[in-house]
Amino acid sequence: MHDALTTWLRTAAARLHEEAAALTALDQAIGDGDHGINMDRGFGAIVTMLDGRPPRDGGTSEAAATADVVRAAGKTLISTVGGASGPLYGTAFLRAAAAVVADHPSSAAAFVAAVEAAATGIGALGKATTGEKTMLDAIVPAAVAARATLDAGGDATAVVRAAADAAEAGSDATIPMLATKGRASYLGERSIGHRDPGATSAALLLRTLADVTGSRPG
Ligand code: ADP
Ligand code: MG
Repeated sequence: MHDALTTWLRTAAARLHEEAAALTALDQAIGDGDHGINMDRGFGAIVTMLDGRPPRDGGTSEAAATADVVRAAGKTLISTVGGASGPLYGTAFLRAAAAVVADHPSSAAAFVAAVEAAATGIGALGKATTGEKTMLDAIVPAAVAARATLDAGGDATAVVRAAADAAEAGSDATIPMLATKGRASYLGERSIGHRDPGATSAALLLRTLADVTGSRPG
């Protein structure tokens, strides 16, 4: 789990770097045009943080080692990303870390708990819920689909893929929404017809995780 996590964070950093201009273009339409820059900076800082970490302590449990990295990633996002998305994603990672460290029967169950905790944390900090054209419109459906797939007996690969599929559908569903939270809400009706940048980056993060866990099950 620990190695898949670091592979995910590094791969996500590379993809966010590639997609920075596209994410920023989405944010130019309904925000201030910095979402790609923010995500690229934050995940670039996560890679620097990972590079500087000492090798994993063999005495630490898999869950504790995983939670440590998720927590460090969250702190990095909070300290390096200005804008709403830094504290929101950072809090999501901190909540996910706290969820992962508990005793779970499988890595699939740990992942579901992490995504649910992330969604709850973002909702609490952003005082937002689904249908308001934010990253929650990708992350909440992802958590719901992941839980349903786990309950149906799905393994980690199936659970993460279900989360990524639901996040992408959720991102698509933000296009016709009226924004009522964040900068896009200042536009009122003019926010309709544009994809939410944060929902887009959330779907990218989950698709990247699905790609990483799909090639290395478990
Ligand atoms: P900023 O809006 O400060 O410029 P970013 O551009 O990096 O920050 O991130 C914008 C994204 O943050 C939005 O597309 C939306 O998904 C998310 N967001 C903004 N406000 C909230 C909120 N209150 N709750 C949840 N997500 C939010
Ligand atoms: Mg912005």
